[in-house]
Amino acid sequence: MGAREGRSFLERLDRTPRTVWYGNQKITGKVSEHPAFSGIAKTISELYDIQSEPSNADLMTYPSPTTEERVGLSFLQPKTPADVSKRTGMMKRWADHSGGMLGRTPDYLNSSIMAMAGASAFFGTEGRDYATNIRGYYEYVRENDLLLTHTLINPQVNRSVGPSKQADPFTAARVLEKNSEGVVVRGARMLATLPIADEIMVFPSTVIRSGQDDMPYAIAFALPVSAKGLKFICRESFASDSQYDHPLASRFDEQDAVVVFEDVLVPWDRVFILEDPERANKVSEATDAIVFMAQQATVREIAKAEFVAGLATIVAETIGADQFPHVQEKVTEILLIAESMKAFLRSSEANAAVNRWGMMTPDYVPINSARNLWPRAAPTLAVVLKQIGASGLMAIPPEGILESEARADVDRYYQGKGVGAEERIKTFKLAWDVAGSSFGGRQELYERFFFGDPVRMASAYYAWYNKEPYKERVRDFLRRERPE
Ligand SMILES: Cc1cc2nc3c(=O)[nH]c(=O)nc-3n(C[C@H](O)[C@H](O)[C@H](O)COP(=O)(O)OP(=O)(O)OC[C@H]3O[C@@H](n4cnc5c(N)ncnc54)[C@H](O)[C@@H]3O)c2cc1C
Repeated sequence: MGAREGRSFLERLDRTPRTVWYGNQKITGKVSEHPAFSGIAKTISELYDIQSEPSNADLMTYPSPTTEERVGLSFLQPKTPADVSKRTGMMKRWADHSGGMLGRTPDYLNSSIMAMAGASAFFGTEGRDYATNIRGYYEYVRENDLLLTHTLINPQVNRSVGPSKQADPFTAARVLEKNSEGVVVRGARMLATLPIADEIMVFPSTVIRSGQDDMPYAIAFALPVSAKGLKFICRESFASDSQYDHPLASRFDEQDAVVVFEDVLVPWDRVFILEDPERANKVSEATDAIVFMAQQATVREIAKAEFVAGLATIVAETIGADQFPHVQEKVTEILLIAESMKAFLRSSEANAAVNRWGMMTPDYVPINSARNLWPRAAPTLAVVLKQIGASGLMAIPPEGILESEARADVDRYYQGKGVGAEERIKTFKLAWDVAGSSFGGRQELYERFFFGDPVRMASAYYAWYNKEPYKERVRDFLRRERPE
């Protein structure tokens, strides 16, 4: 089939049965028409349309190594530095479509499965042939251009003990039994962003480490979202049918769900790691999946910082505040974030090298630094918009006011510097959707946590970073004696 168009994504979405709970409603009928999903489904279909646009063929696709048909470029297993940069180019095109507001565009997990398949030997062939499974799964996803969601984290019941020590040992998803057909899984995982996906990957967290007690939880597998016994329990939707009032939420609310496995059978060919804490602990880094996911995340973060820098500038200009030095300084803070992220990305591309699996891989040092800096820097984006927009962010009446008797007052008192009221309100609504609405609040939370707990990520970074040369320089200095 190869790289698909938006229409084909929507058709598959609507014909794939899945158990999705939204409040007291089990969603039936066309998912693409449900108010919680219609906006995001349309946006994802736009991404696939961008990909299949003939003029974007070289930017977004490459010939499949098995069929020669064009497939999505995020599946490309890079062999040269140019391939690594091509991956960046394709990701940026998708990221710019949402101003970086969509975390889980398909390239995020495509990058992960691409890297893991390239490192298939890591998964081993003892007992079952997990190496063949991961390669086969990657090819299946690539050739059918499937959209993946994923879930890494155990339910947040009691974090003071691991999954095996919870009051109910089946709180976190774990192996219930193994039979001739596969592995039966019971329990739950969180948090699957984008439950309108075609498939779900259940993998170990990049941060949480499993011990021997956690054997039944140390698993990795993938399933179609239609698998029997699989349920998605959604949060309240932030979507809206008014693009004017909620320009981002109406298009980009990806939705997040807790995933319940009610004795779900995972066929053997979809099992990648089984009761193997050692492999579970290492999988992201040993396969370099984390590097390729971080490359995708950094590209998106750049798109977001650039978009918000543009928006903050327009907000300032709209009210004539752009002349004030402290306002300029605040916009500059965002520009510096954007430029720092670009420098990390560029450096990781420039120092790309062939990894032990034969894949040209961005340098982990700068890209892991970007991964750790971003959760600290990203909240600044919203803070700056609030500092510049101030009360204007609350002078954003709902769309209906433009059709009301109050229109004349609105035209008179809501205008900006050289800008009519309607345009000014539109700009400030966009700023509020980035910085303060439910959608904006979720964005901030997402940026803090989507790649794992930033505190434990920082501890891992501290342990991993080679600080010895710096320490040695200090020791040298301390040993240095002033010449007489
Ligand atoms: C909007 C959003 C979307 C997400 N989408 C996805 C997704 O698509 N797929 C997915 O798999 N995950 C997703 N996540 C989950 C993400 O991976 C987690 O938020 C992240 O790994 C942190 O885990 P947690 O939320 O369970 O926090 P917790 O682990 O419960 O941490 C809560 C607090 O306790 C502290 N804490 C807990 N345990 C420890 C410890 N052992 N040592 C030190 N401090 C500790 C943390 O520092 C934090 O302050 C998403 C999260 C958000 C917010």
